Amino acid sequence: MSILRADKKFRQFEDVTPAILKKANVKLLLCDLDNTLRLHSEKEPTDSLAKWIEDCRKAGVQIVIISNNGRKKMMQKFCEPLQVPCVWWAKKPMSKKLTEAMDEYKTPPEHTVMLGDKWSTDVLAAHFAKIRAWKVDHRRDIV
Ligand SMILES: [Mg+2]
Repeated sequence: MSILRADKKFRQFEDVTPAILKKANVKLLLCDLDNTLRLHSEKEPTDSLAKWIEDCRKAGVQIVIISNNGRKKMMQKFCEPLQVPCVWWAKKPMSKKLTEAMDEYKTPPEHTVMLGDKWSTDVLAAHFAKIRAWKVDHRRDIV
């Protein structure tokens, strides 16, 4: 299997439903932020994102946002209302922050998934961490 091949593909994060997470035995969902959960123009979480995170939480799935974005204040401001932990400047495709999150939430690789939009960072980091990579289509601002 190619290290760059996503294990599952979705159009957008909303398509990753609690039922799908349950069926795939996912307890820890590591999520990329930019162009996965938000567009660059979205300074605050959308209602759709807040609802999705709440639905995942109710289904017993822990979400941790792991982003290469280095804008710590922006990230904290964005993630705080969602009440999800966030890691900035994660340096994906290095897998260190993914492994640290698995350690912190005491979740083994077989119950962990990385969800992101980029092959070169998210998918690679997931496979370096020996976890599944789920890919969403790259979302773009309409200009
Ligand atoms: Mg991204």
